[in-house]
Amino acid sequence: MQHYLNYVDGQWRDSSRQLEVINPATASVFATVAQASIEDADAAMHAARCCVNSGLLTDVRPAQRTTWMLKAAEAIREIAEEGALILCRENGKNLATAREEFDEAARYFEYYAGMADKIEGISVPLGKDYVDFTSYIPMGVSVQIVPWNFPVSICARSLAPALAAGNAVVIKSPEVSPLGMILLIQAIEKAGFPKGAVNLLCGKGSEVGSHLVKHADTNQIVFTGSVPTGQRILRDAAERATPSVMELGGKSAAIAFADVDIEQLLRSVKVGIFYNAGQVCSAMSRLLVHRSRYDEVKNAVVALAESLNVGIGEENAELTPVVSKDQQQQILAMIETAREEGAQILTGGQAAQHDGYFVLPTIIEAQPHMSIAQQEVFGPVMVIMPFEDEDQAVAIANGTDFGLVAGVFGENLNQSLRVAQRLIAGQVFINEWFAGGIETPFGGVGLSGFGREKGQEAIYSYVQTRNIGIRLKHNR
Ligand code: NAD
Repeated sequence: MQHYLNYVDGQWRDSSRQLEVINPATASVFATVAQASIEDADAAMHAARCCVNSGLLTDVRPAQRTTWMLKAAEAIREIAEEGALILCRENGKNLATAREEFDEAARYFEYYAGMADKIEGISVPLGKDYVDFTSYIPMGVSVQIVPWNFPVSICARSLAPALAAGNAVVIKSPEVSPLGMILLIQAIEKAGFPKGAVNLLCGKGSEVGSHLVKHADTNQIVFTGSVPTGQRILRDAAERATPSVMELGGKSAAIAFADVDIEQLLRSVKVGIFYNAGQVCSAMSRLLVHRSRYDEVKNAVVALAESLNVGIGEENAELTPVVSKDQQQQILAMIETAREEGAQILTGGQAAQHDGYFVLPTIIEAQPHMSIAQQEVFGPVMVIMPFEDEDQAVAIANGTDFGLVAGVFGENLNQSLRVAQRLIAGQVFINEWFAGGIETPFGGVGLSGFGREKGQEAIYSYVQTRNIGIRLKHNR
């Protein structure tokens, strides 16, 4: 059975303990990974600190970082096929989605390569007696904690801008899906970044993750994951007032108006809630439909859910297993609670007859206040609800503690734009769920977190402003 290692100070490093990696499609162990210890974490932090202090990332012309980043992108593309297969096995996701993750990872490196030499400050006019300017300096050591749902692309999403801005990075992989990230780092190693610029620890969140968050050398925390873990990290980060970026969960709503194009909506529902088995922070987990089209849309969405081919990722099934037994049990328990609260399960609502951790595509008719319409499920489960008018649609959409993304579907662009501007969310899609890309800023409000990833804006999450003011002496 293949065994994988941690990456610390430019070396691949074993550990006395190991974690098993399970294929969720078959429920069988197929690899092991060295479980990082506190000593490994300290060594990674020391390596990152030495790299920062050496100036090797920042004393160079910024174009040097562009060169490293482009080499990394090229190396990622070279291993993409091998990486996608491993990611598909450890995570359950289908092969096409796994390939997209590696492609996105390469794109993040290409995109931020282009920004490494354009992080420019401003000059501030203060009259003839002063010269004043700002510059953006890196945070220093950036600790990045990654979830399991898109481990490769989310890892690259934070790592690429952090490196482009001149930070050293210590990454903590998720317990259940570390291998794709290990291949990603193996590729990035070939780019020639200075030793200690990139470190990867495959340990437990409660042990290694928590240690990194509280570490005296941590200058920044970038966390992507669940709300309870994010809250815990923020409490720990408060001890040293460590700046943080929080990319948390969501309960995002799509609003379908009376003039919705149903075919267009169904294409978005398919990716919005069933892509990656619904384990997407920005999933379309609520669908609000104008009363006049409600039955028609409801029947179409149920038919879509029932038409999906449920199977294993390696065979590119449309609906793949969820990542673990725990995740499957948690989803089924939430569906059970929905039943008890009086919600109606229109289709699905149970495990599929497979060895692995499958949940059938599920559509639930519920009231806005019910827990299934308020809490993140993180599985292939969508809640559908009718609304009477624009104000009620906005009130229901905004009526959760989250605010990650939202969507509006309808032919009347005036109405869609009007409503989009009233939705409490970091990103609003009109007529296509997931419209946008790595170029568009992404992040939440409320319990969905704060700070932005993706796009040009994200680079500013990885720098801090320094202002220098100079008093001039004049001859007379
Ligand atoms: P999680 O919170 O359980 O774990 C995330 C990471 O935190 C893991 O690497 C884990 O080991 C680590 N961790 C756990 N306890 C820790 C601690 N005390 N200190 C430091 N690190 C700790 O989340 P998950 O189950 O892996 O991912 C699913 C969640 O992530 C969902 O809520 C989803 O919405 C969210 N998510 C958000 C985004 C986004 O960009 N907003 C993207 C993907 C996933």
